[in-house]
Amino acid sequence: MSKAVIIRQTGGLEALTIEDRDVGMPGPGELRIRNTHIGLNYIDVYFREGLYGTDTPFVLGAEGAGHVTDVGEGVTGFKVGDRVAYVNNGAYAEERLIAADKVVVLPDGVSNEDAAAIMLKGMTVQYLFKQSYAIQPGQTCLFHAAAGGVGLLACQWAKALNVRLIGTAGTAEKCQLALDHGATHCVNYRSDDWVEQVRELSGDGVPVVYDSVGQSTMEGSLDCLKPFGFFITYGNASGPISTFAPAMLASRGSLYMQRPTLFAYIASRAQLNRVAGDLFNVVRSGDVKPVIGRRLPFAEVAEAHRGLEARETIGSTILEV
Ligand code: NDP
Repeated sequence: MSKAVIIRQTGGLEALTIEDRDVGMPGPGELRIRNTHIGLNYIDVYFREGLYGTDTPFVLGAEGAGHVTDVGEGVTGFKVGDRVAYVNNGAYAEERLIAADKVVVLPDGVSNEDAAAIMLKGMTVQYLFKQSYAIQPGQTCLFHAAAGGVGLLACQWAKALNVRLIGTAGTAEKCQLALDHGATHCVNYRSDDWVEQVRELSGDGVPVVYDSVGQSTMEGSLDCLKPFGFFITYGNASGPISTFAPAMLASRGSLYMQRPTLFAYIASRAQLNRVAGDLFNVVRSGDVKPVIGRRLPFAEVAEAHRGLEARETIGSTILEV
């Protein structure tokens, strides 16, 4: 038997129940993995609350790292003892089964803890900067929540790409942290005139906004764009956008909008290898360093969620198994 965080009814922190279960043996094409570290992500809050409408019961969590404890029939490329990591639902568990084609073997130079801090968040930055809107050296972007888990990785990766990143964050301390990690500027978006500040810093608008905050920043983000600019809305930390009308893109100069999800960018084995490989390269070169702001024992998962939702965290939070 091993422990897992099972959501029987979606809701607040009380929905996080830790239960014993028997994971069993891996079936054909599967691995059994013992997690050593689990990454906390804002998407876990959306699933816990029921925003993404998953059938219950389910094991929460989307990212983990550990080692292989058993290999199912027909699986090639893995053996017992391999250090591995993944982005896949069902991560909040001491031990789990998983389809082998969702798992990557960790290279030297990337520890299990680092992997749990970067797999989901870092691959998100990869697709945002290289695929969603392929930003070019010398260009400027606006990146919200720049001191968060995704945010601090984005600040570093932007610097490595010679991209000017104007970050936003909720406190002066968080802004300073974003600057320390490579943001060119950082604006406190709890101030009334953050849009004006961004327009001034960018010389009259940016070509792209990466917005994970959602409802509270949506309109301001559109106002920060140049004509033909790209609004990449990829998260809902402040709540899902409920007030959008296509005419808002027209009136600001024929803007484009995308609502991407990482899962589409790593759907096939080849895509996963390419995106994860790119991430491991920038980590191994030292251009991007995982930032772990908080470590908690697995049993304190509710406290981890509380801190994330209360905007108390910086960088990644890790659950230690
Ligand atoms: P973060 O560590 O960035 O935490 C979220 C941050 O959002 C907070 O720290 C806070 O920073 C900011 N925020 C702004 N308004 C609110 C609010 N009302 N309530 C809570 N937080 C708020 O989380 P992650 O790094 O895990 O994820 C960042 C975002 O990216 C999330 O929205 C997530 O869903 C999204 N995401 C989307 C993916 C995709 O493929 N679509 C993949 C990965 C992540 P501050 O105090 O500075 O405002």
